[in-house]
Amino acid sequence: MSVETYDVIVVGLGGVGSSAAYHLAKTGQRVLGLDLYHPPHVHGSSHGRTRVIRQAYFEHPSYVPLLKRAYRGWDEVERASGEIVFHRTGLIEVGPEDGVVIPGVRSSAKQYELPIEEFTMADAMQRYPGIAGPSDWRVIREVNAGYLDVERCVQTHLSLAENLGAALRYGEPMVSWETQPASVSVVTDRARYQAGSLVLAGGPWANEWLASHGIPLKILRKHLYWFQVTDQTYDEPAFPCYFFETPRGYFYGTPHDPGVGLKLARHSGGQVVESMQGQQHQPDEYDQQLCQDFISDCLPAASTTLSQWAGCYYTCTPDENFVVDTLPDSPQVTLVAGLSGHGFKFTSALGAVAAELVGRKVDRQAIDFLSVKRFLDPSP
Ligand SMILES: Cc1cc2nc3c(=O)[nH]c(=O)nc-3n(C[C@H](O)[C@H](O)[C@H](O)COP(=O)(O)OP(=O)(O)OC[C@H]3O[C@@H](n4cnc5c(N)ncnc54)[C@H](O)[C@@H]3O)c2cc1C
Repeated sequence: MSVETYDVIVVGLGGVGSSAAYHLAKTGQRVLGLDLYHPPHVHGSSHGRTRVIRQAYFEHPSYVPLLKRAYRGWDEVERASGEIVFHRTGLIEVGPEDGVVIPGVRSSAKQYELPIEEFTMADAMQRYPGIAGPSDWRVIREVNAGYLDVERCVQTHLSLAENLGAALRYGEPMVSWETQPASVSVVTDRARYQAGSLVLAGGPWANEWLASHGIPLKILRKHLYWFQVTDQTYDEPAFPCYFFETPRGYFYGTPHDPGVGLKLARHSGGQVVESMQGQQHQPDEYDQQLCQDFISDCLPAASTTLSQWAGCYYTCTPDENFVVDTLPDSPQVTLVAGLSGHGFKFTSALGAVAAELVGRKVDRQAIDFLSVKRFLDPSP
């Protein structure tokens, strides 16, 4: 078997890996990218037309600096490629005053001086006639939010990486990898590769690679829906992206996509998947019914008639924070994994951070909350 040598190998060229390949190629290193399929594709986590992007992060304010970097990253992608990937529609976040979302958005916005507007439910229903909800809910409009064209983001990062000289091999999965004191080798069904560094960006497949390193990842099957609409109520620019916290879970989506429908998904729930081997998505009647009930209750001008659905995977850590680090005993191996169903918006920054981890020039403090050590030594 032949041996080719590179400075760095990126395994997985989806949301994270496509960005990592671009940022590594920008540093002038000889980059090899490998993928099981030909991204963008429908088998992993980076498909389904759109991904919401927002900055006033209710999950945790520590993500905001990374999000600011991600926004700069998407600007760079658009400048470098001439493509539009980020649609700045704004986002309404809707829910109870004492819930998770409304206080969380307020807290991040205040700490980082992010522009938001607050409404009562009655005022919001005047401004956005397509929404409904209990009168004691609050609505926050996040001005700088919007959605990303998910497949175009992946494709554009890959094209930019290739233009900078990255060698990208599709349909060539990594079969095994091993570390030597200051290098790594990767074996595929075609060749053996040697490099100074390895970036593992396998999305839901990373579960199989990282379990033996003490990094617990749970894969969840999730469903996306597009519902028919009969008028322009949910068209952009008048209608923004939306995220609702309800007693039956979190529901979110993007404006009406002409010819496809109004996108809606349930962020909560999901079916546990033990292994990615031989997986195929099937409809989930329970989840679909919850989404149809949500339409009736909260987006009543839309129809509950489905026009399309798709399946996708979340790869979750126990605390739902990402893993962005090097392997403790092998600093030449960088991991970006466990994006826990909220990571696509970050990928323009995560690729840059991966390149910095490879170059050992990273601001560790900024990503300390995403480190591997929290799993290895969970005591406070
Ligand atoms: C339904 C749904 C809705 C979401 N909504 C949002 C949202 O609105 N906003 C947001 O920010 N995030 C959202 N997310 C999360 C986000 O999409 C994911 O976190 C992100 O796409 C994960 O990217 P990834 O690169 O880790 O995985 P992937 O894009 O799946 O990439 C992994 C790649 O690894 C490759 N691979 C696997 N095995 C091998 C191998 N052996 N050798 C080589 N390559 C291999 C695969 O082919 C794949 O291309 C959503 C996710 C889902 C499922």
